[in-house]
Amino acid sequence: MKKAIYPGSFDPLTLGHVDIIMRSSKIVDELVVGVLHNSAKNSLFSLEERVSMIKEMTGPMPNVTVSFFDGLLVDYMDKIGATIIVRGLRAVTDFEYELQIAQTNHVENPNVETIFLTTSLQYSYLSSTIVKEFASYGGDISKFVPAQFIDRIYERYGIKRQS
Ligand code: ADP
Repeated sequence: MKKAIYPGSFDPLTLGHVDIIMRSSKIVDELVVGVLHNSAKNSLFSLEERVSMIKEMTGPMPNVTVSFFDGLLVDYMDKIGATIIVRGLRAVTDFEYELQIAQTNHVENPNVETIFLTTSLQYSYLSSTIVKEFASYGGDISKFVPAQFIDRIYERYGIKRQS
């Protein structure tokens, strides 16, 4: 049984994230999308909201579950019996940080391996930060996030758009 975790903030979940979830769920037996509870970060959506939004999207995927964690990822993985970390790589700018984190996690727990999926070309520019930036100015985010989240994101900025 290969159990993997795809950790992140997912604030909000983007189509780039969904792409990584769909692709990685095909190469492992079980995938847990782990939403990081980071109390220091000012998030657009609460932890509960992010978990439930991801559940909405992954409901039809039989081997994908959603949960949240705080503290060290390797400790949480120990708790749930996961040994693989899935991360997405966009530009080279992701690489240095990801390499450092992957190596640190491996030192912390040698049973843990990180696998990287390169971003699909059409999402290589996409991040939750970009989505928030565009949405805050009323920009079109329909190519960035799942359709059912669009209004909920605009609402956070007090923006009403005709879709
Ligand atoms: P973080 O909170 O570490 O910035 P995110 O929650 O934004 O992470 O994303 C979680 C993971 O998803 C990271 O591995 C990130 O590289 C990956 N990711 C985010 N956006 C994309 C994308 N457009 N294509 C591929 N991977 C992505």
